[in-house]
Amino acid sequence: MKPFTYERAKTPADAAKAVAARPNAKFIAGGTNLLDLMKLEIEAPAHLVDVQDLKLDRIEPTQDGGLRVGAFVTNTTLAADERVRRDYGVLSRAIVAGASGQLRNKATTAGNLLQRTRCPYFYDTNQACNKRKPGSGCAAIGGYSRQLGIVGTSDACIATYPGDMAVAMRVLDASVETIDPRGQTRTIPVADFHRLWGNTPHIETALAPGELITAVTLPKPIGGTHIYHKVRDRASYAYALVSVAAVIQRDGSGRVAVGGIAPKPWRMAAAEAQLPRGAKAVSATLLAGAKPTNDNAFKLPLVERTLAAVMAEAQTVKGA
Ligand SMILES: Cc1cc2nc3c(=O)[nH]c(=O)nc-3n(C[C@H](O)[C@H](O)[C@H](O)COP(=O)(O)OP(=O)(O)OC[C@H]3O[C@@H](n4cnc5c(N)ncnc54)[C@H](O)[C@@H]3O)c2cc1C
Ligand code: SF4
Repeated sequence: MKPFTYERAKTPADAAKAVAARPNAKFIAGGTNLLDLMKLEIEAPAHLVDVQDLKLDRIEPTQDGGLRVGAFVTNTTLAADERVRRDYGVLSRAIVAGASGQLRNKATTAGNLLQRTRCPYFYDTNQACNKRKPGSGCAAIGGYSRQLGIVGTSDACIATYPGDMAVAMRVLDASVETIDPRGQTRTIPVADFHRLWGNTPHIETALAPGELITAVTLPKPIGGTHIYHKVRDRASYAYALVSVAAVIQRDGSGRVAVGGIAPKPWRMAAAEAQLPRGAKAVSATLLAGAKPTNDNAFKLPLVERTLAAVMAEAQTVKGA
């Protein structure tokens, strides 16, 4: 690991200013992704600004009946919160499907949203990777691509966004609150938070340099049956090959977002309109324009089957 300096900021505005003030500075929260990347010298920040003293560790009701989740709330605390388990079950289930108990105890809400791709070539500094080193090429295109994306990818990068929590937040229409180095705040819908890779796969989110996430807001509960299905190579401690977050209402209408297939949680209103026609119709719309590789073409039928399983489970709960 390369040498770096470290400070603990006292307020969100100071933290944003501190990161903007130094070249190559970064926030650190739980450190479970960033420190791994630093040990491998994939990321080499010169300065770390720790956000643990910023008092962003509360879950509070909002005026319109939703919940405001501080950026530093751990995954364990969020998944176990009584209000989240009761009103946002899909979120609780998605978080518990990720990582391990020990990791979830350290991993934070903001850090989880910002975790970087698990493309194996991104982690191997001997390989070409446009995301790690812009303009160097992409070893995954024409290489081993079983885990990688089938939709929303580009000629520069075919990696996926790997997280589980964001897939549930997408289906719940959550928003990300931020503060920038000038002290200005803004709200970004989760739908617009993760970017498609295009020609700039190293730019992964809508955040500007030095912009700090302060909270994630969940709108008021929408009822329905909340399901998260994660299909992976091992029963635990593995990233999704395909995951589906769903909230299905009694009349069969609902919302679905898919993880493990694209640079961001993948959701479309046109696909949700197909829910009464079944999983085949939903997945045909969601995956229109898919560009799978030989290694990951299995994800096309896997999305359809996982959706079918989710819809069957929703029927069972409805009928119970
Ligand atoms: C072995 C292993 C298995 C895992 N399995 C899964 C899995 O199955 N599913 C899953 O979803 N995840 C999984 N994870 C990923 C894990 O969930 C993430 O590492 C974790 O959520 C990151 O949170 P953190 O607080 O530790 O972030 P950090 O590592 O501290 O930070 C991550 C990034 O976020 C930035 N950051 C942190 N806080 C802020 C803020 N407030 N504002 C702006 N930027 C900020 C940092 O600068 C850094 O770039 C796994 C991780 C490991 C190591
Ligand atoms: S798919 Fe993306 S992350 Fe993987 S090697 Fe190619 S550019 Fe890098």
